[in-house]
Amino acid sequence: MSIARIRFRIIFLIFLAITVQADDLPAAATAIVGGTVVNLDGEAPLENAVILVEGKRITAIGAANDVNIPEGTEQIDAAGVWLIPGLMNMHVHLGLILPGKMAAELANESEAALALRMAANARASLQAGVTTIRLTGDTAHADLALMRAINKGQADGPRIFSSGESLTITAGHGSKGKRNYDGPDELVKAARTQISAGAKWIKILISGGIATAGGDLDAVLMTPGEISAVIDAAHRFGVKVTAHSGSPTATSIAVDYGLDSVEHGYFLDRPTLKKMKEHGTWLVPTIVVSQPATEPFFKAIGSPPWYLARRDSAGIAHWKALQMAIEEGVNIALGTDQHPHEPNDGTTATAREAQYYADAGMTPLQALRSATIEPARMLEAEDEIGSLEVGKYADIVAVDSDPTEDIKALRNILLVMKGGKVYRNLLK
Ligand SMILES: [Zn+2]
Repeated sequence: MSIARIRFRIIFLIFLAITVQADDLPAAATAIVGGTVVNLDGEAPLENAVILVEGKRITAIGAANDVNIPEGTEQIDAAGVWLIPGLMNMHVHLGLILPGKMAAELANESEAALALRMAANARASLQAGVTTIRLTGDTAHADLALMRAINKGQADGPRIFSSGESLTITAGHGSKGKRNYDGPDELVKAARTQISAGAKWIKILISGGIATAGGDLDAVLMTPGEISAVIDAAHRFGVKVTAHSGSPTATSIAVDYGLDSVEHGYFLDRPTLKKMKEHGTWLVPTIVVSQPATEPFFKAIGSPPWYLARRDSAGIAHWKALQMAIEEGVNIALGTDQHPHEPNDGTTATAREAQYYADAGMTPLQALRSATIEPARMLEAEDEIGSLEVGKYADIVAVDSDPTEDIKALRNILLVMKGGKVYRNLLK
């Protein structure tokens, strides 16, 4: 071999080594090129756009001609697709266990097994395009451990805002097999314990619920003194309070005390919804759990007859409450009370929930906002997430049709980026 050939081989091998190394590293920058960026304010979308992502955040958005793509930037061809913010689901239990077969199978689940099951659900949620979730009651603080692991890059999942363990009263909804708290003092101590562990919300269960046999769905089970004590204690730490409530009376009492959000709202009436509107209280409907789309799911998991009967009894009132809430302009943030990715009617629970909002009276744009910028506002995180804007985290989803024309576009998620990292890409 001649000297020249040897020299060439050495240079070639060095070149190869550098190339391989560069491939292993995350791209310093990514440009999503050629897509249509949906405008959440109802203005015209930005066609043939470039979204430039550097590190974890969006650093430029504009028409293809206006954005300078630095050399070495990895490009994702988004021609023909619509780009929206990562979806947000505000009522999730990653460790959800429902009555029936599922509860029997998981009766002796260890905390370690629970944490791993939750991590798998977090990964699947992200794959479904959901880049932020609010957890409304999980156990053993596995939710907070998982939140920290995701933040450190040790696990894949959405951004987590958690309420830690939900606060239940003896004999109340969700009380079985859990630690219960009675009276203002115990509840205040319990709320502070969750806050100390890292909870950003406090979840209280103030009325009956579908998943508990006993206690009317619309009964005010927690006393006004208990409700006001928890809300006051949490607010002093800047922590918000959400209440599981099907009852107009319980909701009305809690809203007067400054409750931040209402979960489900099965039997909410117009006066209560008007009060929520006045106070800026959020509603997280979880409509999908009481409607026909989830019937095959509940049958498949072996839900007992009493459970199915309670679910049906709430379904009609729940739907009317949602329609009235939309009419009254109540703040609505999307939540499912099912896993965000749970298969439902040929799509995910998150996409199906949004579709129900449009069926109940929202415009497709309103339904899209309820899954993006509205939850961000509820979380007071709208400066960081919830829309595609320069400076915000690059939490970006691509869909194959215009969701402001038809919200069913959310049924088909083609790209999922969270914090500048791609977790799903069917665009290639
Ligand atoms: Zn729930």
